[in-house]
Amino acid sequence: MTYRASHHSRHYPLELPPVDIREFGHMAVELAADLVTRYPEAPASEFDTAESLVKEMALPPGEEPGSLPSLLAAFREAVGHGVDTAGPGYLAYIPAGGLASSAVADMLSQIANRFTGVAQLAPALVAMERGVLTWLCGLFGLPKGAGGLVTTGGSLATLSAVVTARHHRLGFDLAGARLYVTEQTHYCVAKAAAVAGLPPESVRTVPTTPALGMDVEAAAHMIADDRAAGLRPFLLVGTAGTTNTGAVDPLADLAELTRAEDLWFHVDAAYGGGFQLTRYGKARFAGIHNADSIALDPHKSLFLPYGTGVLLVRDPALLGAAHAGDGVYLQDLDAVYGLPDYAQLGPELTRDARGMRLWLPLHLHGVKAFREALEEKLALTGDVYLGLAADSRFEVPWAPDLTVVAFRLRDRDDEANEELLRRINASKRVFLSSTTINGRFYLRVCVLSHRTHADRIGELLEIIGACAD
Ligand SMILES: *Cc1c(COP(=O)(O)O)cnc(C)c1O
Repeated sequence: MTYRASHHSRHYPLELPPVDIREFGHMAVELAADLVTRYPEAPASEFDTAESLVKEMALPPGEEPGSLPSLLAAFREAVGHGVDTAGPGYLAYIPAGGLASSAVADMLSQIANRFTGVAQLAPALVAMERGVLTWLCGLFGLPKGAGGLVTTGGSLATLSAVVTARHHRLGFDLAGARLYVTEQTHYCVAKAAAVAGLPPESVRTVPTTPALGMDVEAAAHMIADDRAAGLRPFLLVGTAGTTNTGAVDPLADLAELTRAEDLWFHVDAAYGGGFQLTRYGKARFAGIHNADSIALDPHKSLFLPYGTGVLLVRDPALLGAAHAGDGVYLQDLDAVYGLPDYAQLGPELTRDARGMRLWLPLHLHGVKAFREALEEKLALTGDVYLGLAADSRFEVPWAPDLTVVAFRLRDRDDEANEELLRRINASKRVFLSSTTINGRFYLRVCVLSHRTHADRIGELLEIIGACAD
């Protein structure tokens, strides 16, 4: 059937009038300010979620309008359960942060709702995104002409890197393809390889040194052996800060090896990337400027809310070649101002405008504020390491390269360590996670939230000490 306008009423409830936007906005901003005010006191975790709450949140929407205050109250209640990943006590996995300035930027971006997949439709907003990417390329020492893509996270950045390396080095013939990682490499690389159509045997695990970095000599042997066997090595992934212990691979040596062996050199800096802003990180990541591609997660070491990853590439044309596509319905669109069409550089066509959420916090707070916050995290991690290492009850095998400390009770079994983790987290003042390294259970502390300061780290050490008794 064909709908006619006369069949519809003249009332448009989906268009909030400005007076309601203001009221809605005030209520939402009050709630946001309240959440931030309460972070220092809020429990680090709250797992006894009422079954009824979970059921209530999953109810389908009704036909008739709901009430804003009660809907916001439901959100407030929902946020109070699970793990407070935005609070100062969150020291598990890789903490984020969640800068309020970035959230406000997103709200404005989404109210404007401009299309940034092609430059012609929103050139200045695309320039904003490109400006941040160009700045990041410069920060990592990539040459002029380098570029990239803002993704939803490290996994998607890694996927596009693997797809680009595959396309550039192998074309569509994947036979005998081999890529090189270590046991400490994030699993998103193997996942990306599988999504990119590479069979499991294409992922080769290079042994690590006792410091848990890639053993360069072993990598060289493995690559040579694979080549001699008629296989096709095409990609090596180094990590600038592993998730397990924050270990940094010997990037300069790996750059040399990949150049000699003509492999694509990808660096996973999803966790560590932000530390390039610090003098220490820059020195620690020496050689990273030789990478063909670098993944980093501003939603980790630049403290942004979840949903922002970045892929930087030495040659954006290769990214474009691997992600190219066209449709007749896009025939009106021309390249403008030398700006990239981001839809041509990644798997997505329509996506949220991602420039402002990076651009606003960086310009508003200034780069120095980020550098100093990261330096603070490095110093706090030093306190954790020295504090634990000074206590003979603990084994702390790896001095931190960045801001992760893995530890366990000396001469106790895995079960005792699992019990220690449970007790620490039961404090609800801090929340830690665990991992397995060389077949043994370790507790991990990762200091990365912009909200974590010396007071909470002092408390952490007290809690660990008390729980170990
Ligand atoms: C977090 C992380 C990833 C994955 O990034 P997401 O943003 O979670 O998709 C990849 N590599 C490392 C080293 C990480 O810490």
